[in-house]
Amino acid sequence: MEREYVDVVIVGAGPAGIAAAITLARAGKEVVVIERGSFPGSKNVFGGAIYSKPTEEIFPEFWKTAPVERFNIEHKFAFLGENYGTVLGYKNEEHAEKFNSFTVIRSKWDRWCAQQAEQAGAYIVNETMVTDLIEEDGQIVGIKTELEDFYARLIIIADGVNSILARKAGLRNDFESKDIALGVKEVIKLPKETIEDRFNLEGNSGSIYTILGNPMNNMVGLGFIYTNLDSVVIGIGVSLDDLSDSEKKTYDLLNELKKHPTIRSLIKGGELLEYSAHLIPEGGYKCIPKLYGNGVMVVGDAAMLVNNVHWEGTNLAMQSGKLAAETAIAALKKNDFSENTLSLYKKKIDESFMMKDLKTYRNVMSFIKNNKKIITDFYPAKASEFLNQFITIDGIPKRKKYFSFISSILKERKLSIIKDILAFTNIGRSILLK
Ligand SMILES: Cc1cc2nc3c(=O)[nH]c(=O)nc-3n(C[C@H](O)[C@H](O)[C@H](O)COP(=O)(O)OP(=O)(O)OC[C@H]3O[C@@H](n4cnc5c(N)ncnc54)[C@H](O)[C@@H]3O)c2cc1C
Repeated sequence: MEREYVDVVIVGAGPAGIAAAITLARAGKEVVVIERGSFPGSKNVFGGAIYSKPTEEIFPEFWKTAPVERFNIEHKFAFLGENYGTVLGYKNEEHAEKFNSFTVIRSKWDRWCAQQAEQAGAYIVNETMVTDLIEEDGQIVGIKTELEDFYARLIIIADGVNSILARKAGLRNDFESKDIALGVKEVIKLPKETIEDRFNLEGNSGSIYTILGNPMNNMVGLGFIYTNLDSVVIGIGVSLDDLSDSEKKTYDLLNELKKHPTIRSLIKGGELLEYSAHLIPEGGYKCIPKLYGNGVMVVGDAAMLVNNVHWEGTNLAMQSGKLAAETAIAALKKNDFSENTLSLYKKKIDESFMMKDLKTYRNVMSFIKNNKKIITDFYPAKASEFLNQFITIDGIPKRKKYFSFISSILKERKLSIIKDILAFTNIGRSILLK
């Protein structure tokens, strides 16, 4: 029997795969997306916020029909000590009007995105696991599923952080624990009015917390809180390397965060709806693999494209999916699917804001890992201690307090304070200078 080839097969209906699918379908290309979940989003885990501007590039005016939970008008940063905390935040109601970022529930959002791709002409096959790639004469020409094989002029691998297929294509090695974080989160149901009271919100505006400090037990990691309409997401993401050296498990850390006096009243009395865990690529610029080969491109988490300084995963996934699709359209026009032609994808990625940002932050993870005690614990604790001193009226003259605060830092850090200043200066230079 003669083989049937479609233009492009995409593996995975997450944000990266669907962005690629809709871009190709809108250009009139034949595109099949294979998804192992019972529907797009059924297996997906994330914290909660997506940035609007990159989303709009793929789904214009998405807010009119998409299942958005809340538009975020506030971002708070909580620095937690053992039983105290300092919370700083930025709130701007214009962010709701201009849609800087919004929260979603992935099982609803991914499904809506997939429906848009289907309406544009993409064909989505659910409940089908891709098990292997088909290679002929050094060219990837198709994929194997448990039931049948599919042949395509091009394959886009969008199967997420574990990406068995990127490894089979020879584009990636097994990941190293230093480049990966484990994220765990709970979804806690609370009445809409309670969320609005506790987070000081109105209507469909939302709030985000990024949390540093004690509950992470000196491990490299962050906590987060996102507000949905009638639920709150609370979670943490912690370096796998640190977890493997610790007796604490991620759910111990999450429980400590939930019990912390700065946090517990936000979720008090809520009903646990969901607990989930997932890996997050956090190696950044230095661990991005080869992005293309003969007949194949890799996008999103599968290509380790996450900016974990700004919690951008979904928009990098969508952006890379779009750029891979544009490259596929050019390759289909030339009828040439060689590595040489597909190198255009890497060129597009290199010129995009996402790669520029990843390059800017290329040294941040190693800086945090090499200085984790002072970044995750010592200085956040000192910031809280200073504020405590500042607001406490206890008869001690203020100048005496300031001197005793400064001498406590000098006493504890001694000459290491010079090392700290140099480390902060160096990371600042590496961010600001090319
Ligand atoms: C705890 C946590 C919090 C996060 N918070 C945020 C956040 O607030 N904001 C943000 O922007 N990002 C966040 N991220 C990151 C974000 O979720 C990812 O960057 C994004 O989902 C990557 O999209 P993707 O399409 O590349 O991969 P995925 O979303 O992982 O999608 C991959 C898809 O491929 C399918 N698949 C996998 N293997 C196969 C196979 N063999 N055959 C068929 N289908 C397959 C999967 O079922 C899935 O649907 C968070 C991640 C975690 C874990």
